[in-house]
Amino acid sequence: MKDTATFLDLIGDVPVVADEAIVRRKSRDMSMTFSPIIRRDAADKFADLIVRPRDHADVVRIASAAARARMPLMMRGAGTCNLGQGVPLAGGAIVDMSALSSVLWTRDQTVRAQAGARLLAIDDSLRPTGWELRMHSSTRRAATIGGYVGGGHAGIGSCQWGILRDRGNILGLQMVSVEETPRVIELRGDDVNLVHHAYGTNGIITEVEMPLAPAWTWMESVTNFPDFMTAARFAYALAASDGIVKKLVSIDEWPNWNYMRHMREHGRDGWSMVRTMVAAVSVEALDALVKSCGGQTTVRAREGEGPYGAPLWEFGWGHARLQVNRERPEIVNNIGLYLDPDLLASVERSWRRFQGVGGMHLEVKRYNGRIAFQGSPYYPFVDEAQVAGVIRGMSEDGAMVANNHTFFVKENGMKATDDGDTAFKRSMDPYGLMNPGKFDPDDNLDKEGSGLQLPTTGWQYGAGPSAR
Ligand SMILES: Cc1cc2nc3c(=O)[nH]c(=O)nc-3n(C[C@H](O)[C@H](O)[C@H](O)COP(=O)(O)OP(=O)(O)OC[C@H]3O[C@@H](n4cnc5c(N)ncnc54)[C@H](O)[C@@H]3O)c2cc1C
Repeated sequence: MKDTATFLDLIGDVPVVADEAIVRRKSRDMSMTFSPIIRRDAADKFADLIVRPRDHADVVRIASAAARARMPLMMRGAGTCNLGQGVPLAGGAIVDMSALSSVLWTRDQTVRAQAGARLLAIDDSLRPTGWELRMHSSTRRAATIGGYVGGGHAGIGSCQWGILRDRGNILGLQMVSVEETPRVIELRGDDVNLVHHAYGTNGIITEVEMPLAPAWTWMESVTNFPDFMTAARFAYALAASDGIVKKLVSIDEWPNWNYMRHMREHGRDGWSMVRTMVAAVSVEALDALVKSCGGQTTVRAREGEGPYGAPLWEFGWGHARLQVNRERPEIVNNIGLYLDPDLLASVERSWRRFQGVGGMHLEVKRYNGRIAFQGSPYYPFVDEAQVAGVIRGMSEDGAMVANNHTFFVKENGMKATDDGDTAFKRSMDPYGLMNPGKFDPDDNLDKEGSGLQLPTTGWQYGAGPSAR
């Protein structure tokens, strides 16, 4: 039973926000926009207050106070997450980590930052070194590195470097346990994946160490193809062109891109669009590939200087959906993975199946060592039965489909979990206070929500030695 008065007493002068309107607003994440199902399931779920640690000592104090007062905690970076990760299911305190925003050091092509440092701020600080983060979410401007590790999974850079979970893409995490006397531990090697994509359920991330990549001069291109499968083949060939240094390959069938107001004049009616970022040194090779596929490039610009008012990465990944939703708020998508060796054939099956339902949107990435396209059709939401039908169709076509309409880590299906994860959760959060209900099987909260009924398969990472 939580004891809010004792919690407040124990945290002393740590800043607290109790204003109801602010607390209710911060009890929401971006799934309110992205999932009508989660929006409905979250209707009555709010935190009680917000705490704002100023430094590491405040974080430890909050962790100890929470353990003693049995106060649920929900960590928050910028709150740009989906999947209900940022919706508290059991009230309690939101822990706003934005003040812990220092870049601590950079050396040997590695950066270490506090959890609340924003991805763009980290890259800005790295600019003089000629290095940058290997990948970032399309929410780079707002998102924090702690939130990206806790809730994200891939993004701009993943077509070159794979996903966050891939061994070597997260080097180290400093964690604080939620116990009367909190422990501060460092996770390295494969153990970082205990915490990655765990929705802040198994310890407080206070520092993150990430490997860097060369900060190439990135060139944006918008290229159009008369039919969707040619666009898909082009994107696949680009993904497989090891000599072309790339950061973004986004595919949109007509009419998706036509719903993006600032992209409209750069496409061709009825055609499919591929938006890419490649290194300047690779532009000539890209153009040769475009020519061999019969594409037409309508925009070429340095990163951030294109005629669409934002960097091209703000038209990829989750932002593709956001751009579309600005004009068509009823459109939803699923998180399907189409994988080599059957990638193009399975994409083609889905493209044929969903004609008339919605245009395909796909992001190119590497996944567990393979080329993968991630996406689904963009389609106007009707009800759960319709979403279930689309998921079933995608699965029949060969995609692995995660569940983007449930609050729960395991049911979402993007994180591989085993007994080691359960043991770690129990050791870092013995009272089940961290984002309760999202992970722990015995925290006495019933799993609820109509998203649970969806026939998703989750993602499999295959046999063999994998990064957890
Ligand atoms: C338009 C849009 C585009 C997106 N694009 C991408 C994309 O390209 N790639 C991608 O992977 N994701 C993407 N996302 C999801 C999300 O933006 C990213 O995961 C982002 O990096 C989250 O950062 P944040 O600071 O906003 O984290 P938050 O939303 O605040 O938190 C995310 C999760 O991590 C937990 N958490 C936060 N901080 C800590 C901490 N210090 N310790 C422990 N747990 C913590 C939270 O409790 C929550 O469960 C997108 C979302 C939207 C809405």
